[in-house]
This record gives sequence, C-alpha cells and structure tokens, in this order.
Amino acid sequence: MILLLGGTAEARALAARLDDAGVTLTSSLAGRVARPRLPVGETRIGGFGGVTGLRSYLREERVRAVVDATHPFAAGISANAAAACDAEGVPLLRLARPGWGEHPDADRWHWVDSHADAAALTVGLGSRPFLSIGRQGLAPFVEPLREVPALVRVVDEPEVELPPGWTLLHSRGPYDLASERALLSEHGVDVVVTKDSGGSHTVAKLDAAGERGAAVVVVRRPPSPPGVETVSDVRTAAEWAADRAADRA
Ligand code: NAP
Repeated sequence: MILLLGGTAEARALAARLDDAGVTLTSSLAGRVARPRLPVGETRIGGFGGVTGLRSYLREERVRAVVDATHPFAAGISANAAAACDAEGVPLLRLARPGWGEHPDADRWHWVDSHADAAALTVGLGSRPFLSIGRQGLAPFVEPLREVPALVRVVDEPEVELPPGWTLLHSRGPYDLASERALLSEHGVDVVVTKDSGGSHTVAKLDAAGERGAAVVVVRRPPSPPGVETVSDVRTAAEWAADRAADRA
C-alpha cells in the first residue's frame, strides 16, 4: 500500500491518478477542516500520534512507500514523515508545488520569515490590509492590526477572536483574477498578506494586487526536512509511487 499524506489539491490529483492506475493507496488527512474535499479511494482522517504513531502505522499497514503531498507550510507532518520513513526504511517522496518566487512581481514583494514579521511590517505599508494567510496564521496579526480595518478570508471559522473592525469572509479557492480584482477594489485593499503557498489556485490575488499597486507581504516557506527527494509535479510523483508499489508488491 502507498500512503499519501494529503490535504492539498495536488494530493487529490495524485490519488486520482494512482487510483486510475490500479495502485493500492490510502490518503491521509489531518482532520483540520470541517468539510474536507475528499480524494478518490481509501481515506483515513486524523493524526498518527507523532513519529512513533506514524512508525507503527507504516509497520502495521505494511506501507510500501510514502508520498508527502501536504501543504508547504505543514512542516510538522513533513518532519514526522521524514523521521518515520527513515527509521522504518520506507521510501519517501515529497511532492511540493513550486513557490511564487518566480512570479514576475516577486522582487517587488516584501518577503519575511514569519507571520509575526509580516504583521509588524503590514502596519506600516497601508491602511486596508487583506490577510489571506489561513485561519491558523491569524493570531500574530490580532494585536498589531487591532485598530486597522483588515479583510480576512478563511475556509473555516478562526480559533482566535478577531477585532470588531475586521471583515471576515468565508470561502474556498480556487479564485480567478476577475473576482480577486473585484474583491480588492470593493474593500479598497492596499496591502495583501499571504504565505508562499505557491501554485496556481490562489495566485490571482497577487496578480490583482500588482495591477492596483497594492503592497504585498509574503511569508517564506519553512525549510523542508533535509535529504528527502522532492518533485513538484503530480505526474512524476505518480510514476514514482507506481514504481514503488510494483517493486515491493
Ligand atoms: P502540521 O502542523 O504539519 O501537522 C500537525 C499535526 O497534524 C501532525 O503532527 C499530525 O499529527 C497531523 N497531520 C498533519 N497533516 C496530516 C495528514 N495529512 N494526515 C494525518 N495527520 C496529519 O500541519 P498543518 O499545517 O496543521 O496542516 C494540516 C493539514 O492541512 C495537512 O494535511 C496540510 O496538507 C493541510 N493544509 C495545511 C495548510 C497550511 O497552511 N498549513 C494549508 C492547506 C492545507 P500527528 O503528529 O498526531 O500525526
């Protein structure tokens, strides 16, 4: 069985490809969002219980290989996968979508290493920030931006209490340029804050920001675990997984 650590569009695309190819796989989701988009095929939901739990799972389920297709900012599970696979001798591939560093406007953006740095910088860059950073990253923005009319977009309800002057939107991408342009215009956005999630599904906000001359603050990705083979496209990951499934069946 191939274990596919998921929670991303790439993971769902990979699950569909492997399912089509007749590869036995289980997709794993953390269980963070209330109504997750489920991949095709077998799915399990919830944490494994750290490296120890994941090692037990690899042994008990006789996992042939693991593809870590989790979000580039899900650093905890990626580190656990690297440690568990190394300890159990299970091949591991990281599938990570390309970041936005090659975007034509990238050298005009403000790149920072943390959400706290992004929050500190945002205050001085404009008066109508758009926080498109996910609900889990909101806490460091609350105090620095308490008096600022921020626009926030999330999939699920944030766990932190937001200041009364903030506007909260619930929606889930992908987003196109026309709708992002309209959103930024409607709210008079002059700073867009994002993390370097990468890929095409949510890049339109950055194109729309560039068009209107809004500042952009980007949180850099956390480092990947060293020594893990990494690819950026689903087709290559599917070939790798199909080969491992065949090798060790
Ligand atoms: P994280 O901080 O790296 O992981 C925290 C813990 O959640 C892990 O130690 C693990 O618990 C559990 N976990 C995470 N991903 C899992 C998976 N695919 N299957 C089973 N358990 C998982 O992760 P996160 O940033 O909270 O992200 C959680 C999930 O949401 C990931 O699957 C990720 O792909 C998806 N996601 C994250 C973001 C983001 O910005 N972080 C954005 C979109 C989607 P145990 O230690 O108990 O095994």
